[in-house]
Amino acid sequence: AKADGRGTFRFFESAMDKEVQNRRALELDMREAMAAGEFELHYQPLLDLARDRIVGFEALVRWNHPSRGTISPGIFIPVAEDTGLIVPLGEWVLREACAEAARWPADVRVSVNVSAVQFRQRNLVQLVMSALASSGLAPGRLELEITESVLMQESEASVRILHQLRALGVRIAMDDFGTGYSSLSYLRRFPFDKIKIDRSFVKELSANPESTAIVRAIVSLGRSLGISTTAEGVETHEQLEIVRAEGCTEIQGYLLSPPRPARDAVPLLFRQHRS
Ligand code: C2E
Ligand code: CA
Ligand code: CA
Ligand code: CA
Repeated sequence: AKADGRGTFRFFESAMDKEVQNRRALELDMREAMAAGEFELHYQPLLDLARDRIVGFEALVRWNHPSRGTISPGIFIPVAEDTGLIVPLGEWVLREACAEAARWPADVRVSVNVSAVQFRQRNLVQLVMSALASSGLAPGRLELEITESVLMQESEASVRILHQLRALGVRIAMDDFGTGYSSLSYLRRFPFDKIKIDRSFVKELSANPESTAIVRAIVSLGRSLGISTTAEGVETHEQLEIVRAEGCTEIQGYLLSPPRPARDAVPLLFRQHRS
């Protein structure tokens, strides 16, 4: 039994070491990957339900690793946030997305995810101004998606930055709405332009009547505050019909299209009225 215990402990310890080594390796790789141009943006369309038109695309970063294949942002973004690498990576994402969107029709927006770590850099507003100026993108065509974590720490400084960004004409969306502890109180602190209803609510829409009630409540809240609502992660026609009936402004999800490279995503704009 004693030997077993030690064996288990050793196994656990080496699994921990491995985890640490993995993250360390990922961090080193990531620094080189930035220089080597291994990051790429994919774009996922957002459909306005009333107009039945694609009104924007969300930029989502991908890492094409030469030996490990495509690494999901769910794995490398947290490491990038812990190590501070999210700052140069986030800057690249913002500049790249603005430059890409400047080539699209003038009524189509681009949404960019901004990490809480980027808000702690005091030059975020200057960075956004610079990305807009060098791409020539009109500020109203840029939407920044933030999560509650931005408002959790240093919330006064963050709210000030949000107001400065808004003053530029940039739109601000609250991402993953409903998953945090105090989504509602953040709506009081800052007048968001858009709420993105988290995928976890949309996923259960047909099976779980409580989820429908929650979506209904979020949409009605948005309506009374003058905030538009996007249902994330719409995968089925049934989910689409429910969120449409509940009055969501926009949908995003695999039903419409997964995130794709710009060359594959942008043509969706020109194909949409031919079907
Ligand atoms: P998010 O901002 O909530 O992005 C939506 C995620 O849902 C994306 O995952 C997207 O591919 C996925 N998705 C979209 N439609 C569906 C659907 O119908 N079904 C399902 N199951 N999933 C769907 P992705 O691209 O893996 O990104 C994961 C997260 O990584 C993002 O969640 C965001 O938090 C973060 N992320 C991605 N790109 C960036 C970036 O450039 N900067 C920062 N700071 N974070 C990023
Ligand atoms: Ca997002
Ligand atoms: Ca989201
Ligand atoms: Ca998310």
